Amino acid sequence: MPIKVDPETGLKIFNTRAEKANDKITGKGYSVVTDEALTTLAEEKAGDVFNADEQARYLEFKKSRTGVAEYIGMDGKFSKYLNDVHSQPPVPRDSLDDECEILIIGAGFAGLMLWYKLSQAGYKDVRFCEKGGDVGGTWYWNRYPGIACDVESYSYLPLLEEMGYIPTMKFASGFEIMEHCQNIAKKTGFYDKCLFHTTVEETEWDEAAGRWIVNTDRGDKMKAKFLVVANGILTTPKLAKIDGMEDFKGDAFHTSRWDYNVDISGKRVGIIGTGATAVQIIPEISKTVKELFVFQRTPSSIDVRDQRETTPEEYATWPNEEDWAKKRRARFAKISSGRTALSGNDDYLSGKISDAKPKKKHANPLSPEELQQKQLDTNFRIMEVIRARVDAIVEDPKTAAALKPYYNYGCKRPTFHDEYLPTFNKPNVHLVDTAPKGVERITEKGVVHDGVEYPLDVLVYATGFQWMATSTFDMIKGRDGRTLKQTWDQDGTKTWLGLQTKGFPNMFVITGPQGGGGSFNFTDTINDHGEYVQWMLDTMAEKGADVVDITEESQVEYAEHCAEADSATQALRDCISYYDNEGTAKPGQLVYYGGGRWHKYRIKGQESLEPYVFDAKS
Ligand code: NAP
Repeated sequence: MPIKVDPETGLKIFNTRAEKANDKITGKGYSVVTDEALTTLAEEKAGDVFNADEQARYLEFKKSRTGVAEYIGMDGKFSKYLNDVHSQPPVPRDSLDDECEILIIGAGFAGLMLWYKLSQAGYKDVRFCEKGGDVGGTWYWNRYPGIACDVESYSYLPLLEEMGYIPTMKFASGFEIMEHCQNIAKKTGFYDKCLFHTTVEETEWDEAAGRWIVNTDRGDKMKAKFLVVANGILTTPKLAKIDGMEDFKGDAFHTSRWDYNVDISGKRVGIIGTGATAVQIIPEISKTVKELFVFQRTPSSIDVRDQRETTPEEYATWPNEEDWAKKRRARFAKISSGRTALSGNDDYLSGKISDAKPKKKHANPLSPEELQQKQLDTNFRIMEVIRARVDAIVEDPKTAAALKPYYNYGCKRPTFHDEYLPTFNKPNVHLVDTAPKGVERITEKGVVHDGVEYPLDVLVYATGFQWMATSTFDMIKGRDGRTLKQTWDQDGTKTWLGLQTKGFPNMFVITGPQGGGGSFNFTDTINDHGEYVQWMLDTMAEKGADVVDITEESQVEYAEHCAEADSATQALRDCISYYDNEGTAKPGQLVYYGGGRWHKYRIKGQESLEPYVFDAKS
């Protein structure tokens, strides 16, 4: 397909969005559960503390998990699991060998939010490359039955006010979120800017030209002055490494490529993994399959969700408040450390009352040690009520025992569901406890564990994604020819605010390692990062600078701060999980737990401009 040119701007118009592949999608989001016994938690016991016995129990659990996790990437014979089952084949188009000002990888929330900001600010020569056939990112790839957001949708969905939209449910279904993304793209002209089904395979900084050279799997060899990596932090799916995987003769897929062409109704289905994804899938598919076998290694914490529809009053009144969504998100951020966000008071979030709960006053301020102990005790009490919930709902004592998590709250991504636990009371649902090592073997017929073979028609891998390690990091080559991954592996992860790394001029990573994941709501982080990128572009234009890099001192100082902040709160996350790369990550290497201090560093840098080395090419 020849690419059209806009006569007004002289810029190319792409619109290579691919058609949807099928309409067989079932199980759209959650049912509203009205049984109060399932939507409320028992009160925490005020006096309970995280004592030595309980600490020993958590430690035992941690030890049993250490070193057991083995994953493999989806290459070679497993690359079929990465195929895009969601849309028609790529729209044919000419390869490009031209130049643009800003090239952005990714058309998920980050890409859409960046485009909105940049286009409002007058940046026109912006181009996106997206691996999928449409916008949505996470919500493009993940279309499994039961999918919904876990952060309340009124605070999580981007650009609500700007698009004049209010989600229909407190926890909107993934399909609604995907449609919202499509609406943003339609209303803002995003589709014209995006090369879909286009995977960036290699980008290299050309020092002489002061440009990034961007090569894609569609034969493009484009130049860009600025490169923005906005393709997410849980993007690359992974498979558990299990003997015999390639022998299985039935249908098999990863949750991020749910194949609706495989009819699961009346079938024997197995699912490996019980993370946040599986917790949403299991209740939904238990309604259609004949038998469901859940292969669990570590149970998730299953908190209350209390899903509800948006009320007519909310639809009518919220838009009357100027900046309602922005203000709500700010209020949400104030209470969103840990589970408070989920039990967040609606009156507070909608601005009807000014405080979420009365603030306690301490006669003497707590020392950091006392504060941490207090947090550990609170954390323990939350886990106690979560464990009590399992006993209250799950009828079979052996199944209930296996479903109870023994680790600090937040070690495994907290989940929220009111149908998950009751699902295990159904006669067609079987929990297979594979702790501590995980599933033993896969055969051509199904899954084997503890010497028992479970024959299956369909096997679902709910085995997650690589955290903070998109494959893109391994294909971006900077000034010294090393990739971003090599640089971080060899020198230690060092960045300025997570956004910039020395030797990678004019490049920004959105929500990457050290990127200030202090917020529970990634939409906030994306917003902050987008504002930063725009500030940098504006600043460079004002200064007449063509190239920006950062100083070694600034990234060393910031990386040390990340490590310190991470170590200081390590006791709260003393466990094995993908968040700490199964216990192998160095402090501050991945997500950054410093909360508000990210902003302090940002403001200091923006005011002094000390972290930056600006250069004019011409
Ligand atoms: P995940 O949390 O990484 O879960 C992978 C699961 O596979 C774990 O339960 C893991 O057990 C299990 N597993 C791995 N190898 C195994 C083996 N050999 N045998 C048995 N089990 C094995 O992945 P996910 O559930 O896809 O979730 C990923 C992330 O996506 C979430 O944490 C969350 O951030 C995001 N998410 C968000 C939402 C939302 O609504 N916002 C919804 C879904 C997902 P172990 O725990 O023992 O390793």
